[in-house]
Amino acid sequence: MSHVLAAVAWPYANGPRHIGHVSGFGVPSDVFSRFMRMAGHDVLMVSGTDEHGTPIQVQADADGVTPRELADRYNRVIVEDLHGLGLSYDLFTRTTTRNHYAVVQELFEGLHRNGYIVARTTLGAISPSTGRTLPDRYIEGTCPICGYDSARGDQCDNCGNQLDPEQLINPRSRINGETPQFVETEHFFLDLPAFAEAIGSWLDHRENWRPNVLKFSRNLLDDLQPRAITRDLEWGVPIPLDGWRDRADKRIYVWFDAVIGYLSASIEWARRTGDPDAWRQWWSADAQGKDALGYYFMGKDNIVFHSVIWPALLLGYSGAGDKGGEAGELGKLNLPTEVVSSEYLTMEGKKFSSSRRVVIYVRDFLERYDADALRYFIAAAGPESNDTDFTWAEFVRRNNDELVAGWGNLVNRSISMAAKNFGQIPAAGELTAEDEALLAVAKAGFDTVGELIAKHRQKAAIGEAMRVVAEANKYLSEQAPWKLKSEEEKPRQGTVLHVALQVVSDANTLLTPFLPHSAQKVFELLGGEGVHAPMPQIVEAEDLDGGPGYPILTGDYTVGARWQSVPLVAGTPLSAPKPVFRKLDPSVVEEELARLGEGA
Ligand SMILES: [Zn+2]
Repeated sequence: MSHVLAAVAWPYANGPRHIGHVSGFGVPSDVFSRFMRMAGHDVLMVSGTDEHGTPIQVQADADGVTPRELADRYNRVIVEDLHGLGLSYDLFTRTTTRNHYAVVQELFEGLHRNGYIVARTTLGAISPSTGRTLPDRYIEGTCPICGYDSARGDQCDNCGNQLDPEQLINPRSRINGETPQFVETEHFFLDLPAFAEAIGSWLDHRENWRPNVLKFSRNLLDDLQPRAITRDLEWGVPIPLDGWRDRADKRIYVWFDAVIGYLSASIEWARRTGDPDAWRQWWSADAQGKDALGYYFMGKDNIVFHSVIWPALLLGYSGAGDKGGEAGELGKLNLPTEVVSSEYLTMEGKKFSSSRRVVIYVRDFLERYDADALRYFIAAAGPESNDTDFTWAEFVRRNNDELVAGWGNLVNRSISMAAKNFGQIPAAGELTAEDEALLAVAKAGFDTVGELIAKHRQKAAIGEAMRVVAEANKYLSEQAPWKLKSEEEKPRQGTVLHVALQVVSDANTLLTPFLPHSAQKVFELLGGEGVHAPMPQIVEAEDLDGGPGYPILTGDYTVGARWQSVPLVAGTPLSAPKPVFRKLDPSVVEEELARLGEGA
């Protein structure tokens, strides 16, 4: 048994999240974590909202609120969406907690002490008419990389590249349109080249990574440059050095603080459990931490932060780059075991775009459809290893043909037939070769499905689980227990239904990581009591260090099903089942397509 960290990408809190966001990292990380817990591992699944940086400041300015107020609004929206999807975070927090600030500053100081953070003179913008500093967000111009004409001083929203204001072509002030003047200013840089060797040898020992992720990461090492970790901005974590701490115009760069969230959230989780050192079981690189595994889930645009930059921060803080050094008070820290990146989801052939209304937000989706219907689509047809298109027609087809007509129908007909003819789970008599064969297929599923989930091949995994369902449906058609009506045939009818129900129970366990809401229902239809698939809770929590309170997602996941076949007990009462899944009318396709691109 291992200590398994599931480190899930931090959604940016400048608006509600759409299904593309949760397809890449949200649902896959939950499927993985649920499976690992069922298999007996000690899982810590953490994330939170990423709330600093220029885009939030810009959005807040536009809305006439403070950045904190904007972050509060979307933090809550995102917490509720992830709760609705049943994502089993041990802690989903945010980057504006005092705990997070303290951990970010501790890493900054440790890296600085060990010589991995260097000050550099760079060009900063000032307004010629006032002589005051122009923060990055107030500078706009043409992106030197893609030509987009409204790129900002720190980032191009069109191509996603990070920029420096002086790189912009035709830079202008967003306040009054004047051309900014560039003057020398000091910033801090992370000395990434000092980690090229250490990261290279670490990458040499990575197993099981998706080959494209490994190749991409290795290529990055060939051209590592020092990277700015502070900005001209008022909204963010203060720089914890004398002479800088109290400066209102310089903050730690948002990417530097957000990537540290995995660690700060783990520490916050431990503090909330009453055992403030408990996080070390997942993070400590010493002997005790040898059974600790860390899996990082994200979209492919974030690979660099997880396979190069985050390892560099961990190595530098632990004193393990070219310049050596001592570990800080958090001790030597574990590097990721695996970086699990997904590809992109598009919608009806187009890139998701809130401004062009090519979008469906998680909230709107969950108002109209069940969470498990979306979870099923993502697992069976999501962007696991290829860019993938979400179409409403395919969503409805998979829901109706696979979930309802395949799995829902098996559950429904086997339980209702047993309820009607026996009122309980019938006893099994002597088993035929066909009975044994079906039971064996279901049992074998625990190995094959489990192994595939552990290797992040969830598409193949749910395919294997659904193959068990298909075999069971075929078995029922062939055995036709509805025809076994005479007094003489009744025992055989009982045996067939017992076998079918046992396979329903096994298939339900195999599908539990993917479809936890319906798995709980099927478990109860089979007479089960208590928790089968534990669910997250929203808790209104206090900030541990006296800051404002905030909602967190957390839960008790020590309860629930294990990853094994549980023999059904003959005589357990059964009643006529209600359908577990909803069939969708094909007209929803047109309704949804009409909603796309409408309004604005
Ligand atoms: Zn660009």
